[in-house]
Amino acid sequence: MAGRIVVVGAGIAGLAAAIYGRLAGYDVEVFEKNAVPGGECTGWDRRGHHIDNCIHWLTGSKPGSALNDVWRTVGALGADTVFVPGDKFFTARLGGREATLWHDLDRTERELSALSPADKVEIKRLIQAVRLARCCEIPADKPLDLMGPIDYLKMGIRMKDMPKVMKAYGDVSLGELAERFTDPLLRMLVNSYMPADYAAYAFIVSYATMASGNGKVPRGGSRALTLRMAARLEELGGRIHLSEPIKRIWQHEGRAAGVILQDGTKVASDYVVYAADMSLLFGGLIKRELMPEGWAKAYEDRSSYPVMSGLQAAFSVLEGSVPSGTTLFACAPFRVGPREASCLSVHCYDYEPAWAPEGRAVAQINLTQSDADWEWWKSLDKDDYRASKEKAAAIFAERLVDEFPEAANGLELLDAWTPLTYERFCGAYRGSYMGFKAMPKAKSPSCKGVIEGLPGLYLAGQWMTSPGGLPIAVTSGKFAIQRIQRSE
Ligand SMILES: Cc1cc2nc3c(=O)[nH]c(=O)nc-3n(C[C@H](O)[C@H](O)[C@H](O)COP(=O)(O)OP(=O)(O)OC[C@H]3O[C@@H](n4cnc5c(N)ncnc54)[C@H](O)[C@@H]3O)c2cc1C
Repeated sequence: MAGRIVVVGAGIAGLAAAIYGRLAGYDVEVFEKNAVPGGECTGWDRRGHHIDNCIHWLTGSKPGSALNDVWRTVGALGADTVFVPGDKFFTARLGGREATLWHDLDRTERELSALSPADKVEIKRLIQAVRLARCCEIPADKPLDLMGPIDYLKMGIRMKDMPKVMKAYGDVSLGELAERFTDPLLRMLVNSYMPADYAAYAFIVSYATMASGNGKVPRGGSRALTLRMAARLEELGGRIHLSEPIKRIWQHEGRAAGVILQDGTKVASDYVVYAADMSLLFGGLIKRELMPEGWAKAYEDRSSYPVMSGLQAAFSVLEGSVPSGTTLFACAPFRVGPREASCLSVHCYDYEPAWAPEGRAVAQINLTQSDADWEWWKSLDKDDYRASKEKAAAIFAERLVDEFPEAANGLELLDAWTPLTYERFCGAYRGSYMGFKAMPKAKSPSCKGVIEGLPGLYLAGQWMTSPGGLPIAVTSGKFAIQRIQRSE
């Protein structure tokens, strides 16, 4: 046996680290605070319906890339995985008109140009950038800091068109990109899916991922994917302890020697892979002073390194009353805490018939949340919090019915949740379900997965590289094991 690894957190990063650890011959034990594995990549049931919390697109779904190999190795995807059929990223609706970002880029360009001939040049430029961005790949073979000159050369060749995208859009926010269009519908199309301060290139890369068929959603959604990974780990002989939060990283003779559980039990190991939220790690599991400088700066400078969360509500709707997939729609203005909004995003899961009783479907509304929103929710007492959540869900229901009147037929609120839910459930920093936002002019903080001054501790998870998400989480788990092997 190569040695013993304790993994903290059974989200995607922790499960991936544990699986790669087992494959490398280590004895592996995972400690997870929740009663279910998956972290943010999960789903739950309410009154005969299933609510999916995560996957809108799974980067790496297409065979032939190193990232796809990773998803297959961890059991998230297999030979028998069926993907949800789909031909669009999302649709925006404003004033009786609609515009769609189709996977077929020629179709998108044609339709958007017909909708707004005055924006033809800008549309062409944007769609061309999306075409070029299809070459973008998340490094999944090994981490950047373990790559040699040949690896960099190969990556440069594969991603040869990305510098052109970055030159054109690297310094532009989505809000600024929207200003280049004259048609308000097109402005809404580029500016409302992600926050306006988000880097335009991140949106372009996301669309390119979908357009190249590399961002499909596996059937069964987030919870099923996570459970496949957990089953794969158990099949390989790894152990997951659920409802077992760790209290501290155990340090002995200057290195991480294991973890300390809530009841004080010490679990010894040769290595610890920490795959839970980084603010928790430096907020008491180890000393704050050990935080790498880039992160310390980001946590202190809240305006330059914002995070993103969501205020969400899931409804049971009449099947066919809300369009399938994601639709953004303009609505009568409303306010929740500090946020004024006049547009909502709804995702209808009618393509998963098992997730609702016959004739019904689940439709989920998500209103993006920022640091300021989190601060507001946090300031409320228990009663105000509950009342504000209920009020927000009632507004969502009203706006949904204004836009899709047939949805009124038996409309039922299944659940509503806020940034504080993510904080409670996963310990997510300010409820963030990604890493620090990708900002156009700020250098994103990233981490090499180790902590100077604390050997034996390896880090994984969505915070390792902005803007986070599933591919960063899964590869960071693999990379943690590669780093351990390298250290030996
Ligand atoms: C609404 C929504 C939509 C999303 N859509 C997408 C998408 O379409 N595509 C995409 O790529 N990404 C998406 N994401 C992001 C993605 O879900 C996350 O980036 C990813 O799941 C994070 O994984 P992780 O393992 O890094 O962290 P987490 O999922 O946070 O896992 C950390 C785990 O550590 C556990 N933990 C915390 N404290 C302790 C402790 N003291 N002891 C033991 N365990 C502990 C937590 O309970 C948790 O299970 C979405 C997220 C949300 C919420």
